[in-house]
Amino acid sequence: MGMDEVPGARRRERLVQAWVKAIVGTAFVPGGRERVRAVVEDSLRRLAEALAAEPFEPAVGYHVGADLVAAEISAPQALGDTVALLSHELVPRLGITDPRAPKRLAMLLGRLAVGFTESMRSVALTAAEDINRAERAAWRDRQLRLNNRLQRALLCEQLTGLPNRARLTSRLDAVLEDPAIDRIGICLINLDTFKAVNDSFGHDNGDQVLRDVGHRLRAVAGRFGHFLAHLGGDEFVILVEDIVSADDMTKVADLALATLREPFRFNGHRVSLSASAGVVEQVTIDLQPAELLRTAEITLSWAKNHSRGRWATFDKDRYSSELHRQSLIKAMPRAIARGEFTLAYQPLVRLADRQVVGVEALARWNHPVHGAISPAQFIALAETTGLIEPLGRSLLERACRQAVTWRHFYDGPFLVSVNLAVAQLHDPDFAATVASTLDRTGLAPHELQLEITESAIIGVSDAVDVLHTLARSGVRLAIDDFGTGYSCLAYLAELPVHAVKLAPGFLAGIDDTEPGHRNTKILPTLIDLGHELDLTVTAEGVETQAQAERLTALGCDLGQGFHLGRPTTPAQVTELLGC
Ligand code: C2E
Ligand code: CA
Ligand code: CA
Repeated sequence: MGMDEVPGARRRERLVQAWVKAIVGTAFVPGGRERVRAVVEDSLRRLAEALAAEPFEPAVGYHVGADLVAAEISAPQALGDTVALLSHELVPRLGITDPRAPKRLAMLLGRLAVGFTESMRSVALTAAEDINRAERAAWRDRQLRLNNRLQRALLCEQLTGLPNRARLTSRLDAVLEDPAIDRIGICLINLDTFKAVNDSFGHDNGDQVLRDVGHRLRAVAGRFGHFLAHLGGDEFVILVEDIVSADDMTKVADLALATLREPFRFNGHRVSLSASAGVVEQVTIDLQPAELLRTAEITLSWAKNHSRGRWATFDKDRYSSELHRQSLIKAMPRAIARGEFTLAYQPLVRLADRQVVGVEALARWNHPVHGAISPAQFIALAETTGLIEPLGRSLLERACRQAVTWRHFYDGPFLVSVNLAVAQLHDPDFAATVASTLDRTGLAPHELQLEITESAIIGVSDAVDVLHTLARSGVRLAIDDFGTGYSCLAYLAELPVHAVKLAPGFLAGIDDTEPGHRNTKILPTLIDLGHELDLTVTAEGVETQAQAERLTALGCDLGQGFHLGRPTTPAQVTELLGC
């Protein structure tokens, strides 16, 4: 017992402090914090005694409310905050376990509000010979608002009669503070198509279904003595406070989802629904209720994304990579505006004489916190969030400007090759964007090459239209990573492309290290085929001298790779060009 007294007293003290703060924070109170504290202590003691008293006397609440006003604690806000605070916190903070307590508390607080407002009115009326009509109307207004707030605070989960989010949170607070509990779990349950019920059968029937859901889940949770809460809408939580074996949580989730699969009957209708659940099990050390609920929400979204009607369990690695992903997505618009995205340039080398005849522009993001982020990752993120359009536009502009700078002092054959994301080709204005960029920067169309992957164009007819418009304007088009996608050669012949870039995979085994390697047959055929179609053939991923020599012997036009030049800064490209 001795051990329990300390946290118990601490919880009570926090409640007292919170209440004092609620009152002092709302309006000026004569006498200050110390006096309010005495009033609060006294009121709390009277309410706690009333909760346990036999017979139960709800009128105590009325007197407590009236006495608050007598003690000059009379701001309507103070009453609202008091009721909201006590309705959620009093029972858990005082460690009251009597199952009748919540209902009794609701009655006490209801009477408290009446006592408070009635004595305020009489205080106001006695002092109020000169209160004019307008002031009275404002007063009534305030009372009405107050009453609404009261209703909300007290009757929040009236629909199901289940503990609401605030009560779940304070329960979690208490559990997380309990030294005897080291692992807890929650199962967040959500109906998959509840909106359809509301839409097709009306809100009354929807409410009926939710009440039924509450009933069924109560049976599941009650079977094991678990705590069930209704967070509002169609969200419910089962809290498992004493995890014994590894499958405790999944057992609960299975039963919960199974019971919700049974058809619902209301007003002569019979409807089958399904529910999904996010299951989280964690050690209690350093855990915050809000964090636990958030992880449950994310886990639930995994279950829903996968396929509905099932549960998913929390996965730490997946969660942190998702957090990382989200923080990158959030950072991206500002990063675009601040110019955190830059371009590195990798030489495109003519194999016959090893002359640099162009560069591929490769996007780079140096995030101030996370450091260098791979373009494969941030391009994909930009595509899913729609940011690829502004990003792509700014990178294109930057690459063109840089190319013009080189052009000022270098007049050999030279082009800049810019990668396009799939989404950019689906923008019907894209060809116009390219044209205006060339116009603004002064780069000649044939000095710009756009790299597109096969998957971006296969079967997308408006993308093909955009390609034709671009080709007509004189811009060069290259198929990137050729051989990794559909590799539909016949299709290639139909497209207005000027170049293919062979994926690095075709270079494996061609440097005589593996004589019979299939690439020794495939690569020459691909190069010949490219030439047959009048295409410039570039080999990507050239990493060794032997590969470069073999490609030169096969007549491949251009090479790109670490052996021929790594992606680098504009200044170094200037040096490579020898000017
Ligand atoms: P990609 O277009 O196939 O670009 C070539 C990638 O291979 C680059 O990686 C480059 O650094 C790397 N690479 C070059 N030579 C070698 C080599 O010899 N060996 C090996 N192992 N790798 C080599 P990076 O820069 O990480 O870019 C990855 C992908 O990100 C690019 O693949 C492209 O699909 C995409 N990307 C990069 N910049 C942009 C951009 O501005 N816009 C769009 N839409 N996508 C971009
Ligand atoms: Ca590329
Ligand atoms: Ca490539």
